[in-house]
Amino acid sequence: MNIIVCVKQIPDPETPSSSFKVDEAAKKVIPAQGIAPVVNPFDPQATEAALRLNEADGGGKVTVISLGAESARDAIKHALAMGADEGVLLNDPSFDGIDNFQTAVALAKAIQKVGEFDLILMGRSAADWDMGVVPSGVGQLLGVPVVSVAKAIEKNGGSVKVERVLDDGFQTVEAPLPAIVSVSNEFGEPRYPQLRQIMLAAKKTVQIWSAADIGLGAEETGAANRWLPLEALYVPKVESNVEIIEGDSPEEKARNLAQKLRAAKLI
Ligand SMILES: Cc1cc2nc3c(=O)[nH]c(=O)nc-3n(C[C@H](O)[C@H](O)[C@H](O)COP(=O)(O)OP(=O)(O)OC[C@H]3O[C@@H](n4cnc5c(N)ncnc54)[C@H](O)[C@@H]3O)c2cc1C
Repeated sequence: MNIIVCVKQIPDPETPSSSFKVDEAAKKVIPAQGIAPVVNPFDPQATEAALRLNEADGGGKVTVISLGAESARDAIKHALAMGADEGVLLNDPSFDGIDNFQTAVALAKAIQKVGEFDLILMGRSAADWDMGVVPSGVGQLLGVPVVSVAKAIEKNGGSVKVERVLDDGFQTVEAPLPAIVSVSNEFGEPRYPQLRQIMLAAKKTVQIWSAADIGLGAEETGAANRWLPLEALYVPKVESNVEIIEGDSPEEKARNLAQKLRAAKLI
C-alpha cells in the first residue's frame, strides 16, 4: 500500500512545569531553554502501524509528512530510521501561529501533491495542544472516511478493519480504502531504530515544500487567517491554602479536624 504518515514535533511533554513559560502578549509558548523538542508520542505508533501493514501485505511505500519548523526534520528522520521510505517537511514562515484547521488544510494539500495513497495514518492527538482534530479535518477535506483511536489495524481486501478504543471497551469497524486512521498508544510499542537504520535514514530524501509549493495562497495561511481566534494564552495560577490540624494525640487531631469540617459545613 501507499501509506502516508503525518508526524508532528512538539515541546517535550517531560519538560518540568517550572520551565514552561508563555509570552502572554505574543500569545505564544516560549521554547524551554536546553530542552529539545520531540516527536509526538503517538506518531511513532502510526509509523509502526504503517510498517507492520506493509510488511504483512508484502511491500509498499511509506511517506512521512510533518508541518513545522526546520527542527521537525528530526521527527521525519526518526520515522525514516524506523523504516519509512521518504519524507516531506512543510516549512514556511507563513505557517507560524496557524491553527488546527489551517494545519489540516496544509496537510491535505501536501497529501494531494504526494499523489496516490491507500491509507493515511496519524496519531490520535498531539500531546501539546491535544485537540485530536487534525485527522478528521484532513478526512473532511480529502473526502475519505476517518477512523479514530485505533488499537489494531488490519487490511481486509479493499478495506481496513480497525479495533477502536472506547471509554468503556472496544469497537471493531471496517472502512473502505482510501481512509484515514488515527492510532492510539494501545497499538503497542513502536520499533526502536538501530544504528544501521539511523545511518541509512541519513541517505533518504526529505523534500521541503513551502506554502506556495502546495498551492496555499496568502489568504489561507498565516496567523491572521486563523479559523479559530486565540483570545488569550496563559499558565493558570494554582493557589492552595494548607492548615495543619494540631492536637496532642491522633484522637484529638481527628476530633479537631472533624470540628473544622463541620464548621465549614463539609460534613
Ligand atoms: C488559535 C491557535 C493558535 C495556535 N498558535 C500556534 C503557534 O503559534 N505555534 C504552534 O506551534 N502551534 C500553534 N497552535 C497549535 C497548532 O495549530 C496545532 O498544534 C496544530 O494545528 C495541530 O493541532 P493539534 O495539536 O490539536 O493536533 P491533533 O489533532 O491533536 O493531532 C493529531 C495528529 O495529527 C497529526 N498532526 C497534527 N499536527 C501536525 C503537524 N503539524 N504536522 C504533521 N502532522 C500533524 C499528527 O499525526 C498528530 O498525531 C495554535 C492553535 C490554535 C488553535
